Amino acid sequence: MARYETVIGLEFHAELKTKSKLFCPCPTEFGGEPNTHVCPVCLGLPGVLPVLNKHAVELAVKAGLALNCDIQRVSKFDRKNYFYPDLPKAYQVTQFALPICRDGYVNISGKQIRINRIHLEEDAGKLIHSGESILDSGFSMPDYNRAAVPLIEIVTEPDIRSAQEARELAERLKSLLEYAGVSDVRMEQGSLRCDVNISLRPEGQTEFGIRAEIKNLNSFRAIERAIEYEEKRQAAILDEGGRVIQETRTWDDGKGITLSMRSKENAHDYRYFPEPDLVPTVIDDIWMNEIRQSLPEMPEARKHRLMTECGLSEYDTNRIVETPMLAFFFDEVIEAGADAKLTANWILGDISRLLTGNEDKLPIKASDLAVLIEQVKSGAINHSSGKLVLEEMFMHGGCPLEIIKTRGFAQISDASALQEAVLKVVEANPEPVADYKAGKKKAMGFLLGQIMKATGGQANPQMVREMLEKALDA
Ligand SMILES: [Zn+2]
Repeated sequence: MARYETVIGLEFHAELKTKSKLFCPCPTEFGGEPNTHVCPVCLGLPGVLPVLNKHAVELAVKAGLALNCDIQRVSKFDRKNYFYPDLPKAYQVTQFALPICRDGYVNISGKQIRINRIHLEEDAGKLIHSGESILDSGFSMPDYNRAAVPLIEIVTEPDIRSAQEARELAERLKSLLEYAGVSDVRMEQGSLRCDVNISLRPEGQTEFGIRAEIKNLNSFRAIERAIEYEEKRQAAILDEGGRVIQETRTWDDGKGITLSMRSKENAHDYRYFPEPDLVPTVIDDIWMNEIRQSLPEMPEARKHRLMTECGLSEYDTNRIVETPMLAFFFDEVIEAGADAKLTANWILGDISRLLTGNEDKLPIKASDLAVLIEQVKSGAINHSSGKLVLEEMFMHGGCPLEIIKTRGFAQISDASALQEAVLKVVEANPEPVADYKAGKKKAMGFLLGQIMKATGGQANPQMVREMLEKALDA
């Protein structure tokens, strides 16, 4: 059997976080009753003229900066002509000849993946099928709410060699776009979508094999599984001396297979030509600088700050920066006055544990966590009570002080109450006390445990220890 090398290029579509569509004032909001976020412009009615959304251009440039691209000072729009019911104009306005960004790169572990280009374009509408799948549906209904929502398409060079590398690139790219504030990057809602171009070639061969394009991948796991499936499918064809067909395939996540959709079209099939209703987009130095300065702190700068200014270890820093949501939350908590190292411990420990399986949204407020951290730090409650308070905040919401009060977690720091508890335990345990006095320092631990037990675990441990030492040495 021949051995093959896999060659993969990825294409990502990311919906830009603008309030309005690419060429009209309709809202970009996800959902809504079908065909309520539409107007004559995005429906392509005769006689209308598009006006380019300035913010969309700025976000596309930010994406380019985040992915180390050359920003093109002059770009222009073209029409990509094809007929499909989700495309009311029967052409898509996109950038073909002069895209807004070129020649970038993204680093994944030990490797650089080149970005060929990023271009701006409008999204298509959505077809809602009456049957369970496109194959068995009786009829389809178009919803144009998504038509002309601004997108960027990011195209990599075919530098990826395995399913794992593809997944890592997708994860890195998602994180970079999220840091740059360009897109919501929610794969399950379709605001970040990925297509995979994949071919196999015999090991050692330099020319590329014939590739298939896989669409409809809406999770990192699906990207990985679809590539693994396609590697096997193409290898089986090649092993039998067959030829892979250049085509577009769709991923069926339930069955775990790819299916042929249509033969792959070439660029000339789309009859691209310059969009006559829009002037070229020119970015001058002043605008370019404004955009550059509005780019938020990116992962590398963030890592540096967390290690030097916040004193976190490299390991903790990497874990926090890996997940933008946690990194933004970390900043909010320390801005609310909490200690940086304690905040990192809480976020990477109990909060990460509580988030497992629901990583998209933090159900607690940064200011509340800051209060909780302070309560534990000051000794008002002990650490294990702190964990319980956090769990309650996660499950039912509520402010930490309120929970501490209603659940009776407040630590006993009243000296006379503690003194009484200490003396009682000393009196009730003459043997361990004698052991301690005879030099068996271990007996101390037993006595401490008895006092904590007697106070329902709420005694301030440090005060108890000091008092016990005094009582025993007396
Ligand atoms: Zn519109």
